[in-house]
Amino acid sequence: MKDETKLATLGRDPDGHHGAVNIPVYRASTILQPDLKTLKQVQAARLRDEQVTSYGRIGTPLTYAFENMLAELEGGYRAMSYPSGAAACSGAILAVVKSGDHILVTDSAYGPTRHFCDTLLKKMGVETTYFAPTIGAGIRDLLRPNTTLVFLESPGSLTFEVQDVPMICEIAHKHGAKVALDNTWGTPLYFKSFSHGVDISVHAATKYIVGHSDAMLGVAIATREMWAELRDSTRALGTAAGPDEVYLGLRGLRTMAVRLPRHMESAITIADWLRGRPEVTAVRHPALPQDPGHAIWKRDFLGACGLFAFELDRKYGEEAVAAFVDHLDLFGIGYSWGGFESLVTVAMPHQMRTAEPWRDHGPLLRLHIGLEATDDLMADLKAGFERLNQTQG
Ligand SMILES: *Cc1c(COP(=O)(O)O)cnc(C)c1O
Repeated sequence: MKDETKLATLGRDPDGHHGAVNIPVYRASTILQPDLKTLKQVQAARLRDEQVTSYGRIGTPLTYAFENMLAELEGGYRAMSYPSGAAACSGAILAVVKSGDHILVTDSAYGPTRHFCDTLLKKMGVETTYFAPTIGAGIRDLLRPNTTLVFLESPGSLTFEVQDVPMICEIAHKHGAKVALDNTWGTPLYFKSFSHGVDISVHAATKYIVGHSDAMLGVAIATREMWAELRDSTRALGTAAGPDEVYLGLRGLRTMAVRLPRHMESAITIADWLRGRPEVTAVRHPALPQDPGHAIWKRDFLGACGLFAFELDRKYGEEAVAAFVDHLDLFGIGYSWGGFESLVTVAMPHQMRTAEPWRDHGPLLRLHIGLEATDDLMADLKAGFERLNQTQG
């Protein structure tokens, strides 16, 4: 079955729900059982890892449908949902590490992931070393006897370096370490983590999976080998996703295969147009043939989403950037991405990077290209460039 068909057919049970096309939201904490014998049987089935409905936090038919759909799409064994992408990132890391371990984390990782490593993990006695995103085989030199995890994000969601995931997985596995990947940009449709060797794939479902900027949700998908650890450590934390959010996640998945190609096509059109602007010194989009990560992207990915960045000439200061950004009509100023609407932020990688400092770059603007017409978006950006240049008089 192709992904489009999976998205339309999996995770449905009309016979079990009075003919309703979609599984309804189960707002449940307590699950009542008819008698003690059944209660015992349900608990026993849960311990055998069957997807029974035993308590709201553990899962309902809707949660299981959402999680199974994602595992099936990406080629993993089973999945856990979380109340946010950030919780999924920390949940995946905690599934692997113990006190005394050392982990390697890409320098391009999402800010809150770094924050988790630098605070809570450190307090637990787990040491983090950040590495240059394009290190490739060089990762071998950073592995220590107690290195148990390599955490990747490819491409990085501010700076867009593409990582050689299969190579890093091979090296890490030879060493006995696991690999977790923040695959939010790649999505379960465009990067099939498990066929490249990843052990746990994480998504901020808040982005394209929900797809409408109206819910916070995360998911981590594991191989069969890593599943029990992921399940048990997540249950120990109690970080369960809310039922309405899970519903919106599953609903978002239904249309993902028609939304993503449009995001991809529009973003490539605009990225390519930006390359020709005299104010722009670099466009960071792996699907452009000029991008340093293009060859690996082309080898490993099945598509691209609508998120990329571009750099302005260093002569443009804060005031000029504000003149450009503040008066855009169609690009909202704000964090997150993956919804139907276009967004802009000014990225600040120099404030976080440690392994490969971000120096000598002009202002870095990150765009999320939504589902609006590209002509309208380009006209909006063009007016922005005019305001930018007016500040240089
Ligand atoms: C947004 C994001 C997250 C965190 O997701 P939330 O749902 O906002 O907590 C994690 N990783 C990446 C790459 C993201 O863009």
